Amino acid sequence: RAKQARGQRFVFYSNATNDRLLSYQEQVDALRAGLVGQQFVLEFQPRYGAASRTIHSVEALVRWNHPSRGRVPPGDFIPIAERSGLIVPLGEWVLREACRHVIGWPGIGVSVNLSPVQIRDSDVIALVRDVLDQTGLDPTRLELEITEGTLFSDAARARETLLGLKALGVRIAMDDFGVGYSSLGSLRSFPFDVLKIDKQFIDAIDIGSAGREIVRAILTIARALDLSVTAEGVETNNQLSLLVDDGCAEVQGFLLSRPVPPGRISAMLERQVKRWRASGGAGAGIA
Ligand code: C2E
Ligand code: MG
Ligand code: MG
Ligand code: MG
Repeated sequence: RAKQARGQRFVFYSNATNDRLLSYQEQVDALRAGLVGQQFVLEFQPRYGAASRTIHSVEALVRWNHPSRGRVPPGDFIPIAERSGLIVPLGEWVLREACRHVIGWPGIGVSVNLSPVQIRDSDVIALVRDVLDQTGLDPTRLELEITEGTLFSDAARARETLLGLKALGVRIAMDDFGVGYSSLGSLRSFPFDVLKIDKQFIDAIDIGSAGREIVRAILTIARALDLSVTAEGVETNNQLSLLVDDGCAEVQGFLLSRPVPPGRISAMLERQVKRWRASGGAGAGIA
């Protein structure tokens, strides 16, 4: 059992005095208990206009506060949630909770990560329709982030699902662009609105001129395909200023804000409105 668990990429250790690997089944049981026990919370990371540095939207990111293990990062439990199917109820909770919060933040959009498993194994169109109905959220304020993994197993069906989601009026983003396979082909043949440039390319901007050239090439492709662009994982002022110079419209990263609890987002938005009023309401700002 332990051997089987070690074969998986996703094992975590308990904080108990005798640390040991948890079996896959123990991890699934813990996840299920976490769902029942409301151990999951959302943080939100702002996405900013690159030039204006004002918050346009926020990305919902799930966190697990395990009673004894503390905060478990999503990279450690999302794979288990996907393999066990628990990502379907967890993802539904994330979507409802994210939309509920953003209703209180007028003029701000929200993006929610959808797992390939949700797209493939659940009626995600019905879910999104229901959440929009229940919350009254304007669909143009909701963006769904998917990765290339979604497009592989059954591309025709994935395309149908994305078209069905788009028909509800929401936007579709390709997350982590550039780290998977056949990215250019998928950008053309699937109905994306937004391209999120993966952090590894943004990191490369600070490493040498080739890094910046690659990001420029991605921005050119995005323009040609009429896609909005967000640069992910912006950590330095140098990256931000070169991205602005190269015409990248939107940025997200620790430089401007880490993911934070919803109360912090409310406070940041209040300050933003005050600054905007103080400046006489000029320029880009609050809808
Ligand atoms: P992602 O969707 O690409 O989210 C961006 C990740 O990069 C987040 O990690 C965020 O905290 C991190 N990040 C943002 N800016 C920076 C930066 O400047 N530097 C560094 N080093 N990191 C930065 P997080 O929250 O740990 O999430 C990791 C991944 O877990 C997400 O990647 C997403 O694939 C997945 N995930 C998170 N929440 C959900 C969810 O509700 N549903 C699903 N299906 N997946 C989720
Ligand atoms: Mg994402
Ligand atoms: Mg990403
Ligand atoms: Mg990522």
